[in-house]
Amino acid sequence: MQTHPTNVTGIFCTGLWIFLLCCLLPSAPTAAAPKGFSLDFTTIRLGDETQGASGANMGIGVSKTTARSAGAPAGQTPEQGTARPPDQVTEQTAGQTNGQEKAQANGQVADAKPEITSVASVRSEGSDTPAAGKPDTAAATAPVVLVVGGIQGDEPGGFSAATLLTTHYTIQKGVLWVVPNLNFPSIIKRSRGLHGDMNRKFAKLDNSDPEFGTVRRIQELISHPRVGLVLNLHDGSGYYRQSFEDKLRNPNRWGQSVIIDQEALDGVFMGALGNEARRAAAAANSNLLSPQHALHVHNTKTAEGDREMEKSLSYYAVRQGKAAFGLEASKEFSVEVRAYYHLLMVESFLAQAGVKFTRGFALTPEGVRGALLDKLDVSFVDNKVFLPLEDVRPAINRLPLSKDAPAQAVTSKPIMAVLPCANGEEGQYCVHYGNRMITQIRPDWREMDHSLSGMRVLADGHETDAAFGQVLEISKSLVVQPASGYRVNAIGYDSGRKDESGELMTLKDFQPRFSVDRQGRLYRVEVYKAQRFSGMFLVRFVSGANRLTSNDPLPNAKDRLPDKPGQESTLGF
Ligand SMILES: [Zn+2]
Repeated sequence: MQTHPTNVTGIFCTGLWIFLLCCLLPSAPTAAAPKGFSLDFTTIRLGDETQGASGANMGIGVSKTTARSAGAPAGQTPEQGTARPPDQVTEQTAGQTNGQEKAQANGQVADAKPEITSVASVRSEGSDTPAAGKPDTAAATAPVVLVVGGIQGDEPGGFSAATLLTTHYTIQKGVLWVVPNLNFPSIIKRSRGLHGDMNRKFAKLDNSDPEFGTVRRIQELISHPRVGLVLNLHDGSGYYRQSFEDKLRNPNRWGQSVIIDQEALDGVFMGALGNEARRAAAAANSNLLSPQHALHVHNTKTAEGDREMEKSLSYYAVRQGKAAFGLEASKEFSVEVRAYYHLLMVESFLAQAGVKFTRGFALTPEGVRGALLDKLDVSFVDNKVFLPLEDVRPAINRLPLSKDAPAQAVTSKPIMAVLPCANGEEGQYCVHYGNRMITQIRPDWREMDHSLSGMRVLADGHETDAAFGQVLEISKSLVVQPASGYRVNAIGYDSGRKDESGELMTLKDFQPRFSVDRQGRLYRVEVYKAQRFSGMFLVRFVSGANRLTSNDPLPNAKDRLPDKPGQESTLGF
């Protein structure tokens, strides 16, 4: 199933319900997440709901339903506080959560209908793995594949590939659990590890370690009785070779390899580790972009005395009796090429594990790039404020928000986060996407008015609804119909009037420097009731020339992913 149609205003895939499962972190949160902001890792469950929701006995199964319905008729916009109908629920999110979302979501568990539960997203925290010995009715079914990305924060190929599994893959048979952002604080800081190397913390770990809680939670997930295969995604330096060829190609490099701890793990699912690894490497090698990129299997023979590898996540998994592999793309490549090789390997392992899937993009570097860059958005205040970020300006000024809104932002990708800017002015918020900071939000703090869900408009002369959170595509003109007691402020449109309802607005009436996007086509239309903010929709002018501002050059898509090799590490893996 193509979950992300490319021909609409951009924002919505239809028919997907999202199950965002959240539990409170029992231990102290790791550093780097200011109060109210969570950077705990996310577990996203894909596949057969009845299997994946062995989580049901985890006391979870929560749905956060953010309408991202650019195309959805405003007339269907539900009243404040009610769940949206399935055809408006679109995007899986796994960003920050809060008590309110949890409460909403918990209320929806009982209502979840199987036919709309094609995507399950679990916020995995301490208490959401079942207690040992708890009966698990689904345990007899096919083993779950667990994919982990981002154990080291400066390896974007791995965590980008893992993210794509959650946003652009539909599992048709079997179950896939994905943790795309294991070391989320380090991802945000583009650091291998803010508190040392997390991949050396799986043998023993002092409970005073700031990452103790995170490591324990991923260990619980790995040792979950349903998990049968663990793939840990890395970006490594150079190219692994069994014998020395040159400085970049030798046994001490890690890039382009499938790593195993030993040749076999007897008696377990996919326990012929060497054979499975060679099969995955061969599958990727039949799709090489250059013969130089060939992948090799690297057996670290950990049990024979590799003191470093003994501390790794994958060897922990092996000790739990799980087939485990480290997948390494080379840091010599741009992010999309790294993710391309990761997905070739992952897809081979999924096939070997009996998991069937469809993918919503072509598996080429260009397809991967497109998928990584599409559907980038953030939503605030129950979608009263919605921002497409694919082509966002470096800053969004005077965005009306309630004080609690930034910590409750809902993002479209699990490696996105809204956080107070580290070095910015007080009260500014940075929107992060993996290793990149994509825009800065400067809020105009407002009390909220909840009496309205949208406005009536004349769009190119046709009367229709504009729901808050919607992106309205306009060819020529927009008129917002007056509504008694409310005033309209189109940002960048200067009529000199306090209320801009009733005005005929065209692209040339807007000052480009106020646009949300860098092409000067996308503008905010905000609605107020006295001093309170009621909501906003966006208008995108789809005809006419771009209206770039001179000091804001046309974004080059190539500049929008970190293409530079990540920080070098002698350990690599
Ligand atoms: Zn690594």
